[in-house]
Amino acid sequence: MEQLAIFGGTPVRETPIYYGRQCIEQDDIDAVVETLKSDLITCGPRVAALERQLCEVTHAKYAVVVANGTAALHLAAMAAGIGPGDEVIVSSITFAASANCVLYCNGTPVFADIDNDTYNISPASVREHITSRTKAIVAVDFTGQAVDHEALGAICREHGLLFIEDAAHAIGTTYNGTPIGSLADMTCFSFHPVKTVTGGEGGAITTNNEELYRKLLLLRTHGITRNQSEMKHPTDALWYNEQITLGYNYRMTDFQAALISSQLKKLPKFSARRKELVRKYDEAFSAIPEIQVQKEIPASDTTRHLYILRLHMDMLTCTHREFFDALYAERTCPQVHYLPVYLHSYYESLGYRKGLCPNAEKYYEESMSIPMYYSLTDADAEDVIHAVKKVIDYYRK
Ligand SMILES: *Cc1c(COP(=O)(O)O)cnc(C)c1O
Repeated sequence: MEQLAIFGGTPVRETPIYYGRQCIEQDDIDAVVETLKSDLITCGPRVAALERQLCEVTHAKYAVVVANGTAALHLAAMAAGIGPGDEVIVSSITFAASANCVLYCNGTPVFADIDNDTYNISPASVREHITSRTKAIVAVDFTGQAVDHEALGAICREHGLLFIEDAAHAIGTTYNGTPIGSLADMTCFSFHPVKTVTGGEGGAITTNNEELYRKLLLLRTHGITRNQSEMKHPTDALWYNEQITLGYNYRMTDFQAALISSQLKKLPKFSARRKELVRKYDEAFSAIPEIQVQKEIPASDTTRHLYILRLHMDMLTCTHREFFDALYAERTCPQVHYLPVYLHSYYESLGYRKGLCPNAEKYYEESMSIPMYYSLTDADAEDVIHAVKKVIDYYRK
């Protein structure tokens, strides 16, 4: 048996690879440089063009691009009218921002458990958490796989809830043939460098609802309007603009928009490669009894953002931590996505406690994301598979 690198053996790779990385090509760089030479470098024509492009890609009527994915979630929660006393049901396995947006509005996040096979929010758990105060849900397309829109949509209609989709992982995914972005009341995207399409930073909200769209536009720029019909004291004076509500500066620059536009054109090839890698990993890992492969619902044609390696820890002699460290030492570096949000110490200080979502907690103790991104080569993927097999062979009971 091969000696693990962590115990002095030879690592599978010389140079480390990580769970995600961006792919920036010359034409992306050219688009940014070109924009920097133009008259308007924020909220100019590239931002407007990106919004039109996002509508095309997602089939949504409206798109509002913002500074980052967290700003998108914040504005969505504000546009939804979340306030003190309102409860919002949120996925437990997600990045903290999915729940923080509720806290920004002084609402109360209520965490729903995940499905044990897809790791997405469980509609049954959502139902269990509905009270007379529930106002909305924030459902995350975890790893890029679409949430169960049919079940969640039905719950939202039945109880009059607003459906906010956190699609930070899911650009390029379709649900029963419809792109993510036109299914929920509002869908939030992120263009952080680890995501499938990047602008360095960046975010967007898509919606089919004109009223929500108008609110989002206003909130993105301080709550200030130039539209006379929205003003309390309308005038046709050219200089005049009026703040009619409290908003933020969540604008995106035109050079970020140019980068995202350029990247978005490559979404088909980004998607295809990610799907190829997922197939390769699924094929290799479904033959290994110690590994649980993430279940894909037939309705979701997924552009995967993360590849989750979930382990049956009871079949191994090591701990989750030891497995993680061993893969790291092989230089096929994993990451864990995510600590259940309510286990962060800040949430603990708000009164949330361990035990709320047993499936999410068990998932956290058994899972890690392995390298998977567009520019990962077949040889890199072979290294990852080799490293995983090597560590499993070593620790097999
Ligand atoms: C990345 C991410 C966000 C936040 O996006 P930023 O652009 O980094 O602010 C929100 N939710 C999820 C699930 C994410 O993965």
